[in-house]
Amino acid sequence: MAARPILWIVIPCYNEEAVLPITAPMFLQKIRDLRDAGKISDRSRVLFVNDGSRDKTWDIIRDLAKQDEHYIGICQSRNRGHQNAVLAGLMEAMDKCDITISIDCDGQDDINAMDKMVDEYLGGCEVVYGVRSKRETDTWFKRTTAEGFYKVMNALGAEVVFNHADYRLISARVLRHFADFEEVNIFLRGMIPLVGFKSTSVYYERAERIAGESHYPLRKMLALAFNGITSLSVKPINMISGLGVFFSLVGLGFAIWAIIEVILGNTVAGWASILCVICLLGGIQLLSLGVIGQYIGKTYMETKRRPRYIISERTWEDNARHWIEEE
Ligand code: UDP
Ligand code: MG
Repeated sequence: MAARPILWIVIPCYNEEAVLPITAPMFLQKIRDLRDAGKISDRSRVLFVNDGSRDKTWDIIRDLAKQDEHYIGICQSRNRGHQNAVLAGLMEAMDKCDITISIDCDGQDDINAMDKMVDEYLGGCEVVYGVRSKRETDTWFKRTTAEGFYKVMNALGAEVVFNHADYRLISARVLRHFADFEEVNIFLRGMIPLVGFKSTSVYYERAERIAGESHYPLRKMLALAFNGITSLSVKPINMISGLGVFFSLVGLGFAIWAIIEVILGNTVAGWASILCVICLLGGIQLLSLGVIGQYIGKTYMETKRRPRYIISERTWEDNARHWIEEE
């Protein structure tokens, strides 16, 4: 029998008690189908990463793990956000499998695209990006903000695959190199392309969330976008320098004009124009300081080298405490 790769599907879950019981069997079925098609090994697994959920998510994962050996789970010690949850799962999987596919647990990303992903891997690709071909089921607002996000990201120098979220296949080999990227501020979809290796994209249609609510309100999306840009690019700092040069020149122009006015004797210059200039420059200075501050803040966080995730429990380990009995 030919050797077959072991696949781990990595699924971050945060307060997903409403969807997990529905989508978990779909993931298991996908593993079975791929195995029956002779593409992957039976030692493949569905790995849930509980991201410090406050509902019954972890209990559900533990029950699933008891039902079928293909289900396994790890639990983070607290909520750390989607990116860190995916990272925790990928790092856990890295040494135990040949390929990982990360996917959200809400059924929005088409599970059937996994077949094509695995085919591409068997064809020699090490990274396969899942790309949304349509977003018709997303609301107009979500679609526009999300697509705008990719455009702004690329314009600001953070290379990301358009309309690709965190649904992707990564080989264990690429992950082992990725593990050397030790930064704390992580933005996976911008970082994975930096590792290199042969990659490709497969296209799928994004469906509606099966149940529960999105955990990515506008506030979190903006935070993710900002984090992505400042983690991957120093272009904003360059732009600020450019703005600084531009407004210095404008200021010089104003100064020359003022001197000419004085020489001509028109000394009663309007205070309004001065006020405008002051306000404009004040605004730009504050903005610039803010952006530079963001980078300094990031440097500060990076220098701490805090762990990016902490796993408190695993479904396949005995988590009991060992009290040693004394006489
Ligand atoms: N998620 C997570 N930690 C968080 C927020 C979200 O692990 O702090 C998971 C969530 O369970 C889901 C995925 O990340 O599997 C994507 O979240 P969601 O579906 O809410 O985002 P959207 O698809 O609306 O962008
Ligand atoms: Mg979703």
